[in-house]
Amino acid sequence: MKFGGTSVEDAPAFANVAEIIRERRASRPVVVVSAMSRMTDALLASVRQAWDRDVRAAILSLEYQFGRHNEVVSGLLTTEAGPMTVLVENVRREIGELLRSVATRPALCLSLQDAIVSSGERLSAAVLAAVLRQAGVAAREVDARRCILTDENHCCATPLIKETFLKTREQLQQLIGDSVIPVLGGFIGSTVGGETTTLGRGGSDYTAALVGAALSAREVQIWTDVSGVLTASPHVEGNARTIPRLSYAEAAELAYFGAKVLHPKTIQPAVEGGIPIRICNSRSPTSPATLVGAERETAPQTVKAIAHKTGITTLQITSARMLGAYGFLRALFEIFDRHRTAVDVVTTSEVSVSLSLDDAGNLPSIIEELERLGSVRVEQDQAIVCVVGEGLRSTPGIAARIFSTISDINVSLISQGASRINLTFAIDEERVAEAVTRLHEEFFGDLKVKGRMSKVMAPGAQVAG
Ligand code: ADP
Ligand code: ASP
Ligand code: MG
Repeated sequence: MKFGGTSVEDAPAFANVAEIIRERRASRPVVVVSAMSRMTDALLASVRQAWDRDVRAAILSLEYQFGRHNEVVSGLLTTEAGPMTVLVENVRREIGELLRSVATRPALCLSLQDAIVSSGERLSAAVLAAVLRQAGVAAREVDARRCILTDENHCCATPLIKETFLKTREQLQQLIGDSVIPVLGGFIGSTVGGETTTLGRGGSDYTAALVGAALSAREVQIWTDVSGVLTASPHVEGNARTIPRLSYAEAAELAYFGAKVLHPKTIQPAVEGGIPIRICNSRSPTSPATLVGAERETAPQTVKAIAHKTGITTLQITSARMLGAYGFLRALFEIFDRHRTAVDVVTTSEVSVSLSLDDAGNLPSIIEELERLGSVRVEQDQAIVCVVGEGLRSTPGIAARIFSTISDINVSLISQGASRINLTFAIDEERVAEAVTRLHEEFFGDLKVKGRMSKVMAPGAQVAG
């Protein structure tokens, strides 16, 4: 059971989570918890301030966050209030020291940053374990850094799967056998040498899937602030509704292309272990949830959801040297490789390659190198829209419906994924909300869905929501 930051944002939220776990203790859960909401942002901002040599401001900026933790401790704990207050104070002091070290370094030290940022998850795991004990549930905090072993790529470390599975079992099995609920911070790990690492923003979901796979859990539950995966981002589409079932592939595409509710890497360990993922609402535990599992178990609905991602940069590289030549694409992608920059969507013609980047941090040097291959056109402030559904494979005419719905919006970089379950394209960021809303109305508008049911749905299949 993984609880995200918004599920532990204050004392009532912690109490609510403890109750959700208590009610389900008979199924012997392992709990993974994120930092309190906004804590990771605050920690990262403090690192930046310290690096700008303003250590005093960096330390002061975190006072409010420690105050929030102390409020949870004093609001919910009795016998353990003392030791937990001491823990918060110790972490506060430790971070002060680490921030001072950040300020003395000539370059931003990412291992120091990870050590600082990890304190959000370490604190919330310790506090949640204590809140559970207060509620009469046997629970113990386990340092996730003893379970999740990673490479040394700080800030977005890759887990060493064999070692992680081994260590996770070693650390947790005994506790589970003794009916004690282990509570781990998500998102954090450590190198084999013992340095703290983190798995990338939103990585607690990934921790939960890794732990679930290591223990061959019956299910991985992601408890968050919405009722499962919705047909579109609720920030953009007020009528978005819960999708009851998704295949692993559908969930992976949605997560990758912007449905923040699930970290994209969560799917892999679950697929390999054949473990279903259930996404539930901690604010309304009995509301509908989404179950992610193997394809054969999903409803054959044509379009399941529309994801979108903003802040995208698209590049078009044009070169006559591409015509009939081999080695060109390799040379091109090696440039992105060297700059450790992931390319999301790619389309090619005979003389040009268009692609999209989420992370444009190294853009100037990437462009400089690309210009040696051909002319480069850059468009910033773009968005990617991704329409997903297993039924896209077998239903003709979906592309026509998508593009006629937004025919007045300029579309670039159209790509149908190799799995043929998604259709992805780039548009101007400022028109993305409008595009998603219109597509949602086209594919999920109530009357239209009812009208189409008989045509596209197998008997007994469910309609999303
Ligand atoms: P947590 O703190 O539980 O990890 P996140 O903020 O990471 O929660 O993810 C939940 C959020 O994801 C929701 O509040 C919602 O705003 C956003 N979101 C974006 N797209 C979707 C979608 N298709 N379905 C559900 N939530 C989505
Ligand atoms: N606390 C981390 C973050 O905010 C990890 C997570 O919440 O999943 O990115
Ligand atoms: Mg999240």
